[in-house]
Amino acid sequence: MKSNKQRRAEIKAHRRQRAAALATRSFEPDARLPRVVAYLPDQERADRAVLLRYHNTYGPLPVFYVARPFVCRDCGAQEVWTAKQQKWWYEVAHGHIDSSAVRCLACRRVRRERLRSTGPGANLLGEQTNRLRALGQARPNEKAVAEVEAALQSKWWSLRVVAIQTMARWGDAEQVERLKAMVAARPAGGRRYWCWERVAADAAMCALIRRE
Ligand SMILES: [Zn+2]
Repeated sequence: MKSNKQRRAEIKAHRRQRAAALATRSFEPDARLPRVVAYLPDQERADRAVLLRYHNTYGPLPVFYVARPFVCRDCGAQEVWTAKQQKWWYEVAHGHIDSSAVRCLACRRVRRERLRSTGPGANLLGEQTNRLRALGQARPNEKAVAEVEAALQSKWWSLRVVAIQTMARWGDAEQVERLKAMVAARPAGGRRYWCWERVAADAAMCALIRRE
């Protein structure tokens, strides 16, 4: 059996240990944030206002961009994603906050070229999107209207949205009425938040506002 003196000594030792652990922990930077060792030229301050506006995330947003080394996915080259490049990617190009550089510049160019030169159909969605946008530049004929109707049934919602934008650009009374009907049919909140009717209503509203 331990004496009271022994027990008191143990309690004191335990307290010291905990205080020491707490002290080191409170000086540790948040492990999720990039460590800023010093204000070096290869660091860039993040514009939090821009990040908050364009990135909807539960994760932490960067305070600083720090050069990140990476290995090119295609050729295995040792590369560095510079702070400036990161700032541009997240704040100007609005790249996804969880995305990061995976290929060196040379491999990116090769890949882009390969995607482009695989021939028609390699980027079907892109081609159809461009076609629909081009249709919006001219007065609609019967064929153009039929194409927009078909696009409204596309499996790609993004193409349907472009169809809505094209309708707004034409701006015929009948089409404007249809867009207004879409806006009016916007479903109220509920279980299925992410449904086409809601996306359509928002796209139609944006397109109508842009017309005015
Ligand atoms: Zn590479």
